[in-house]
Amino acid sequence: FSFLVAMVQAGDKYKKYNDPSLPINKRIGDLMRRMSLDEKIGQMVQIDRKVATPEVMRDYKIGSILSGGGSVPHLQATPQEWLNMVNGFQNGSLSTRLGIPMIYGIDAVHGHNNVYKATIFPHNIGLGATRDPELVKRIGSATAREVRATGINYVFAPCIAVCRDPRWGRCFESYSEDPDIVKEMTEIINGLQGEIPKNSRKGVPYVGGREKVVACAKHFVGDGGTTRGINENNTVIDKHGLLSIHMPGYNAAVIKGVGTVMVSYSSWNGVKMHANHDLVTNFLKGSLRFRGFVISDWQAIDRMTYPVHANYTYSVLTSIQAGLDMIMVPYNYTEFIDTLTGLVKNKFIPMSRIDDAVRRILRVKFQLGLFENPLSDESFIDQLGHQAHRDLAREAVRKSLVLLKNGENADEPMLPLPKKSSKILVAGSHADDLGNQCGGWTINWQGGSGNNLTSGTTILKGIAEAVDPSTEIVYEENPEFDYVKSNNFSYGIVVVGEPPYAETNGDNLNLTIPLQGQYTLYNVCANIKCVVVLISGRPLVIMPHLEQVDALVAAWLPGTEGQGVADVLFGDYGFSGKLPRTWFKTAEQLPMNVGDLNYDPLYPFGYGLTTQPLNATS
Ligand code: BGC
Repeated sequence: FSFLVAMVQAGDKYKKYNDPSLPINKRIGDLMRRMSLDEKIGQMVQIDRKVATPEVMRDYKIGSILSGGGSVPHLQATPQEWLNMVNGFQNGSLSTRLGIPMIYGIDAVHGHNNVYKATIFPHNIGLGATRDPELVKRIGSATAREVRATGINYVFAPCIAVCRDPRWGRCFESYSEDPDIVKEMTEIINGLQGEIPKNSRKGVPYVGGREKVVACAKHFVGDGGTTRGINENNTVIDKHGLLSIHMPGYNAAVIKGVGTVMVSYSSWNGVKMHANHDLVTNFLKGSLRFRGFVISDWQAIDRMTYPVHANYTYSVLTSIQAGLDMIMVPYNYTEFIDTLTGLVKNKFIPMSRIDDAVRRILRVKFQLGLFENPLSDESFIDQLGHQAHRDLAREAVRKSLVLLKNGENADEPMLPLPKKSSKILVAGSHADDLGNQCGGWTINWQGGSGNNLTSGTTILKGIAEAVDPSTEIVYEENPEFDYVKSNNFSYGIVVVGEPPYAETNGDNLNLTIPLQGQYTLYNVCANIKCVVVLISGRPLVIMPHLEQVDALVAAWLPGTEGQGVADVLFGDYGFSGKLPRTWFKTAEQLPMNVGDLNYDPLYPFGYGLTTQPLNATS
């Protein structure tokens, strides 16, 4: 008898879905058959770290957690602390009846940017300027390893928005105004997730190995096309325009096996994307054959109505029916669970829709290997801020710089600068400020100023390292006119630009350099020969200053490795970056994109002067 009991117990322990030797489809099928409605609906919920506890994970059978925006454990948390936190939540999920592991997501949009001491890469606009998809793939691999260092396995990247109007506060998250460049840069997915095996079925998500993470192509679709660049607003464009400008990146991402797609807050021709069944279900899941899961944006279901949350049942109904599989941070997750359960029980939403959503979520989890290895160990802990990644970021900075002006004519180039000179003045709000140089989405959602934000090298420090020891470097953040005039500087390097921002806070109709930056630029450049290095998430109005400026470099938002700027200014490497967007003369011209009628830019899309590296032996 006891033998029989043992047999039954052993048999009970064998669960098909836990058997890695079986094909994923079989495992999903087996698990789905065992799941109750509340277990299924729980999978469709992603809650913020701040409200998550192991008990909440267990009691509500929650499928996912995220660290949204600045939702870090505490500002200087170590990888070990992150790892312990993630594993703690995971233990909650594993203690449920079926032990389905949760998946943890984070905005690693230019490196693992929420994490103290991570390598911060240039924001996407700078990567667009490199025109180098292979480099971007390596950045994806490095980012995946740093994310794994903290026990996290899912990133809300890449943003494949095609920003058509730089007044949009998220323009820097877009690789380019040109759909082809955005499409090429989806190569980052091959770095984040690993390269999908040849002959894979189109649209099936792929994640190749423990050093990889699940990616998320966002924000589907037309986020970069809103009127006047107003964030989360309305994109007015015909279907042909939508498909030819904003969609090619999604097709490329799906071909690469992207695991998830995030829906945009914005509307298309007046219809909220979160309610768009035709595009989410018919087009993305149908025509493009996407088999991963579709996730909402943060509290986007609640924001489908104005006022927010006005008709919640209707919002849940339309979004789930549109094809949303996982809901990121319902304003109140228990309310969401109750509402969706009611809609299913009353047959407003068919069970087949819930099953479709859950199957997709489970597929990604199986593909990720979560059922075999739900808990992270310390194998990748030394990868955070690894020197190899910092070297890679420095290389990316070098290749992202776009040289817009170099002396009055080609015979008298200002750059590269000699490493030996008497006295160089370095000035400007962005010369010695790591936070300013990283921009938004750095430690905090909105980014921040100062050198204590995280670790890295400022441009000033990079310059000081690059020059000959005999060269004197004088740093004055905001030098007065007379001061510059009366000191015998050989020339000035002015580093100015935009303060950090993210999302709606970055919407800006003027696009001028902040006033203090303009004063500094004038005080220096009106007196001595000068190079202006512009740190910004987009082109800014520069025309009125051009006459004073001897050389002009667009450095975008370079990240933590400021030496990359010095490497090129002082000729260890040549300038090679090309404008990923049109540089306008005045903001009144906007929107203006390459190919437009009456295209009249200051510098056209693709512009960028080159220099040769100085011979190391000379
Ligand atoms: C942004 C997304 C981001 C999400 C999670 C939203 O506000 O639109 O891009 O992934 O927050 O932080």
